[in-house]
Amino acid sequence: KTGEQTAQEASGSTLDQQAERKDIDSRVQELVSKMTLAEKVGQMTQAERRHATPEDVKTFHLGSILNGGGSFPGNNTREDWVQMIRGYQDAATSTRLGIPIIYGTDAVHGHSNVVGATIFPHNIGLGATRNPQLAQKIGNATAREVAATGVSWTFAPTLCVTRDERWGRSYECFSEDPELVAEFAAPLVYGLQGGPMDGNTLEDSKIVATAKHWVGDGGTAYGTGDENYVIDRGDTQLSMAELQELHIAPYKPALDAGVGSVMISYSSVNGTKMHEHKELITEVLKGEMGFDGFTISDWEALKEIPADTNRERVVRAVNAGVDMVMEPEKWQQFITDLTAAVEAGEIPMERIDDAVSRILKTKLEAGLFENPLPPLANGPEADKLLGHEDHRALARQAVRESQVVLKNEDALLPLTKGQKVFVAGTHANDIGLQSGGWTIEWQGKAGAITEGTTILEGIKEVAGGPVTFSAEGEGVEGHDVAIVVVGEEPYAEGMGDYREAPCELCKPMTLSDEQLALLDKMEASGVPTVVVLVSGRPLLIADQLPQWEALVAAWLPGSEGNGVADVLFGDYAPTGKLPVTWPRDLKQIPINVGDEGYDPLFPYGFGLTYPKEASAGEQQ
Ligand code: BGC
Repeated sequence: KTGEQTAQEASGSTLDQQAERKDIDSRVQELVSKMTLAEKVGQMTQAERRHATPEDVKTFHLGSILNGGGSFPGNNTREDWVQMIRGYQDAATSTRLGIPIIYGTDAVHGHSNVVGATIFPHNIGLGATRNPQLAQKIGNATAREVAATGVSWTFAPTLCVTRDERWGRSYECFSEDPELVAEFAAPLVYGLQGGPMDGNTLEDSKIVATAKHWVGDGGTAYGTGDENYVIDRGDTQLSMAELQELHIAPYKPALDAGVGSVMISYSSVNGTKMHEHKELITEVLKGEMGFDGFTISDWEALKEIPADTNRERVVRAVNAGVDMVMEPEKWQQFITDLTAAVEAGEIPMERIDDAVSRILKTKLEAGLFENPLPPLANGPEADKLLGHEDHRALARQAVRESQVVLKNEDALLPLTKGQKVFVAGTHANDIGLQSGGWTIEWQGKAGAITEGTTILEGIKEVAGGPVTFSAEGEGVEGHDVAIVVVGEEPYAEGMGDYREAPCELCKPMTLSDEQLALLDKMEASGVPTVVVLVSGRPLLIADQLPQWEALVAAWLPGSEGNGVADVLFGDYAPTGKLPVTWPRDLKQIPINVGDEGYDPLFPYGFGLTYPKEASAGEQQ
């Protein structure tokens, strides 16, 4: 063996890769050496599409544009997206140095802002599958749908570890167990960015991924010590060793897989807001862990830093290690303040050059200089990619694998095909409700908000006999079995938090009075009942559970409701396992596997399956 070969093996890269890296480094250096302060500050700025025109990109040298949830170009068709992004890229590449923007969106369970895209289960459901390989395929399919619309960056995967399901973002986390979250991290990054794991380098469709929200977002307590205060954006109170084990560890495989960006959390750690936490951003993430991509702030998150002026907040965030700032609306203010702070010596030029270098390196690696739009967006097959049948089949498989059967008295499940089936419940026939928050709109929304198959439609497809539907449960008598689909209304961020006092934004973690009345009605009818729960987290059902013959946790399955039906009728024998602990009541929360005196309603990892002979269908 030559010395070169061994060095190559040790660094895990080929000579070509090493040469490419060198080339990228020198291109970055050359660009930075030519840039004016205005160009550098612009590179560090991300504005929202409704508040910045292509002309602004040109004038202020903006480095990035994003869309917030619910902000769509035109009719929200693929062509609208491509045209919008082309407008920004044409402006950016016509400037003196021709640096392309990087356009970002929240494709957090599929390309979830675009009508007609495949909507995959939210992360909590993927955690239940225990199948990271499947998650890699999902990342891949998502990258293709995202690239087809001209977008090159997604703010995913979320690597939160949910330690308290009163937190309304729990469904964005794979699990309460850091090891399970860690198992999903690299496959998703490879799936989105391309990578060695499946030999698919995704040259035509690779996009940049974001590990978020660094760090401790799933570990927050009540933010101010006030019991009624929302726990989203709260404070995580842990020793460094506990933080490392619970919340930092899942980032390691994402960083090793080369994730391009990391988003900073709105929350704080032991009282210090993450956006000014130099130790955790610069020393731990970029230093000890060797992260060499760029960090992005969360939406208007500098506001979280307790300071008197915006300029002071900018200084503290950038000095702490924030490289790009998501300032959707007031980005001009950010530019003014950052420029003044640098000129006054409040931020060293080396820090600015480091931030800009990281951003440019990621853009070069993503191939944006050669192709400001992912090549796929211009290709002939792009039109077929949104909601492609292969992607929908993959989503259906993910839904099957994510179902967790929690109760199955007298082996009621799998249901016999050809019986007289009755279906009821608010969530039985609603794509919006089964998709949850971050779907088409930021908060999600009930109704036919995008294309797909509702759970009812899925049941009709596989039941092999008559299916009667009444949302209110009218006419259940005389049926062989009733399937009642109930659960939570969609929500996102602080709106889903549970709080004690009555408030507009909180969610109760229980079924509504109407849903409970419907379930009582089913019980009174004597028709055996399967309850399907559509929710982003365990709901408090201990009092009702004895009334139900069977219970399935469906999580937030997304656009392919037929995957739920496949499990109910035995075309797929359930394999899903609880990714979080299912508490008995509110008093038990927070409750996590490994706790002292652990006595939940259903333990972490619980999930029933069917005896072999009972399931008819093919297994994968
Ligand atoms: C959320 C992030 C998201 C960003 C951009 C924020 O409010 O916390 O998760 O990526 O908005 O939409």
